[in-house]
Amino acid sequence: MKVMVLGGGGREHAVVHAFSKSKITSGLHCCPGNPGIAKLAECHAGDPCDPAEMTGLCKKLGIELAFVGPEAPLVAGTADALRAAGILVMGPGASGARLEGSKAFSKQFMKRHHIPTSDFDLCTNVEECEAALSKRRAPFVVKADGLAAGKGAFLPETYDEALSICRMMLEEQKLGTAGKLIVVEDYVPGMEMTVLAFTDGGCVRILPSSQDHKRALDGDRGNNTGGMGAYSPVPWVGDELTKKITDEILTPTVEGLKEDKIPFIGVIYAGIMIKPDGSLSLLEYNVRLGDPEAQVVLPAFGGDFGEVVASCAKGQLAKAEWPGAARVALGVVMASGGYPGAFEKGFEITGADEELENSFVYHAGTKTNAAGKLVTNGGRVLTVVGIADDLRTARERAYARVKKIHFDKCHYRNDIGDKTLKKK
Ligand code: ATP
Repeated sequence: MKVMVLGGGGREHAVVHAFSKSKITSGLHCCPGNPGIAKLAECHAGDPCDPAEMTGLCKKLGIELAFVGPEAPLVAGTADALRAAGILVMGPGASGARLEGSKAFSKQFMKRHHIPTSDFDLCTNVEECEAALSKRRAPFVVKADGLAAGKGAFLPETYDEALSICRMMLEEQKLGTAGKLIVVEDYVPGMEMTVLAFTDGGCVRILPSSQDHKRALDGDRGNNTGGMGAYSPVPWVGDELTKKITDEILTPTVEGLKEDKIPFIGVIYAGIMIKPDGSLSLLEYNVRLGDPEAQVVLPAFGGDFGEVVASCAKGQLAKAEWPGAARVALGVVMASGGYPGAFEKGFEITGADEELENSFVYHAGTKTNAAGKLVTNGGRVLTVVGIADDLRTARERAYARVKKIHFDKCHYRNDIGDKTLKKK
């Protein structure tokens, strides 16, 4: 099949890599892609958030299957337009993407379908925020309704801080339209995990488990980031927990979508808190693979990714072979110094090109400059992944590869996977 992957980050590089190994792939394209992706697929300029432009491009290339990587094109309706043009698509239409695109919609959806989540209030003015915060105790949880590139959720320690965050969104409109509606919800203590699953609207299948490392610095210190590293599978996620998550969260989600007449073919990403008493609380949905989770989940997955995606896009996921995790993968994000705050770009990257067995370098914030050199071009620059049969070796391989890659002011965490390795 002729395949198009939309997006240009580390997640899309992992998706393109997985398609490049699939027996269904006869041609591989990406828009816009990046210098790493360009080695595996033909890259095309364009804006994935422009449904008409993407439809035109895919039609021109004779694309049969499209995989939409990031959330913004899904929310913008790109999957709808491609489907209407007769292309098989992995990724929900705009109505399903609201599960990620509107936190108010997703919380109401969870409540309506009895999916465990914390109690919440929706607020459109400061008085409503005051009332919602007064009912609760610290730490507070305040979120912008709309997409805010991972910067719309706040966990303030005091009432005053919480209220000033509400004012910042409602009065100063610092998050634009995303912050016009605010979700104030109960804080949930516990251990956080991510579950990624594929659904064709009927059947739901869980991908290998993964754990991200959100904070910028070792020991889970520093600011929240898009993710500084991950590993898959997570050894403490056993069959019993997987069943509980399927029964209490994933199956009711797919049933709820059906009941609400929302067609949904794509990825369900469930951000889950396992509370101290063992019960579950769903924090959020995303409607695409996580980044950097995809960079470890796809290399760990034992099946033919392309075949599975094609079956899902055709509504035949139940028929797909699903072997689960075959190997262990651990990924370390190499970021620009200063990220997630201000950082400089344009530093030359060396050592990322070498082809090695059992390790991959996925590109995100990179570009080729006018002189033909690979340079830094974003906050998260590369995800360096080690593959093995056990976590310790995967970790060693990832860090050995990291040590061979250089760019000025590079920053990465030294402790990806360590908490779990110490537990063992
Ligand atoms: P991202 O896009 O990075 O996933 P987001 O902006 O969609 O983030 P959430 O995922 O809802 O926002 O929240 C971000 C983080 O805040 C969560 O990963 C979790 O660590 C924490 N968090 C969110 N809601 C709660 C809650 N009710 N109780 C405790 N922690 C929470």
